[in-house]
Amino acid sequence: MNPPESSTASSSPSSIASVTRREWHTSSDEETAAVGRALGETLSPGAVIHLFGDLGAGKTVFVRGLASGLGIDPDEVSSPTFTLIQEYRGQGRHPLFHVDLYRLAGAEVDDLGLDALATEGIVAIEWANRLPASQPHAIVVRIDDEGDDRRHIQIDTPSS
Ligand code: ADP
Ligand code: MG
Repeated sequence: MNPPESSTASSSPSSIASVTRREWHTSSDEETAAVGRALGETLSPGAVIHLFGDLGAGKTVFVRGLASGLGIDPDEVSSPTFTLIQEYRGQGRHPLFHVDLYRLAGAEVDDLGLDALATEGIVAIEWANRLPASQPHAIVVRIDDEGDDRRHIQIDTPSS
């Protein structure tokens, strides 16, 4: 997988945003979910999370944790295989919109209304590399398979 273009890349120094990077190494679903949960506990509406990582990296496991951090039952969170957007409303502190762009062509992504959703709640997007444009305000989560049950998780949070 190619990493996304860095949101700090810019030819104009005045528009360089500062990003805080945190990293974890996990060795089970539970540990990855716990990282997601800790992030979920900090989120408020308007937060957009872009998830990068190969098939089976653990993006959905992470979102399950994120949901539990918002007070949503993690067992209800599955890969949105047939639905592009899975909505969780009325359960947790804030609505969660879980998006999976795996099957979508670039042009179709434009029509999803993701920006509008972000005004209502938290948007977590798997396969965010299919988005037509980078979103500098997004929290970027990258998960890499390091063999067996080991995963490397990197979270970049823009400071503003
Ligand atoms: P993705 O959404 O990135 O395609 P999933 O979250 O659906 O991936 O699946 C991740 C798979 O990897 C699951 O089968 C999970 O049990 C397994 N796995 C093994 N170790 C870990 C770990 N440390 N963190 C997350 N998932 C793990
Ligand atoms: Mg998934």
